[in-house]
Amino acid sequence: MRRKNLFFVAGMWILIGLVSMGLLMNVQGKIDPIPQKISPKEPVVALTFDDGPNPQFTPQILDVLYEQQVPATFFLVGQQMEGQEWLVRKIAASGHEIGNHTDSHPDLTTLEGPQILEEIQKTQETLGEILPDYTMKFLRPPYGRQNETVCQSSPLPLIRWDVDSGDWEDPQAEAIYTTVIENIQDGDIVVFHDDNPETVKALEQILPALKARGYQFATVSTLLGLKKG
Ligand SMILES: [Zn+2]
Repeated sequence: MRRKNLFFVAGMWILIGLVSMGLLMNVQGKIDPIPQKISPKEPVVALTFDDGPNPQFTPQILDVLYEQQVPATFFLVGQQMEGQEWLVRKIAASGHEIGNHTDSHPDLTTLEGPQILEEIQKTQETLGEILPDYTMKFLRPPYGRQNETVCQSSPLPLIRWDVDSGDWEDPQAEAIYTTVIENIQDGDIVVFHDDNPETVKALEQILPALKARGYQFATVSTLLGLKKG
């Protein structure tokens, strides 16, 4: 090949490389938030994911939710956010809600008031460093464990769940699917964990199945707002 042609071919390849890199960055950088269009006539539920952000499974959950255009709520653990700042930003940018799941995931019923408060505040501070304008509205106590001290010490309302997907017990996707589909009702909050592949697989089946039954999806804030209204 002549030298001039060689330069031309090399130049073309560099150009193609730059263009595709640009496209890729644009695709990754731009996320349209999932809208919440709730009709009062149809049933509505809130899906929640605890214990993240998980670098392996949270992105997979986000992909399924995005494909299905389902908004959800992620109860994040403060210490888990370290090193996963990009993931925290992606959750918020996708239109999902972020809730407080404490800093180190302790059983809060074993702690005194000031320690409980510290667990909650530290998580808010960590999130504040990543998303300065974001304030978490709810606390989900780890293991759903709460008592009088926890309730009195928490500056945030406690949010538990109506349906436990049981995914923390390490079942197969099929079992998670059956548990959710058989137990879910209008107005329910469902708990999942974004730390295992079976939840991801189950979700791929659960979302279309619920949609086929007329279910709509909201964040916890939106769901509770609807209940009040
Ligand atoms: Zn948890």
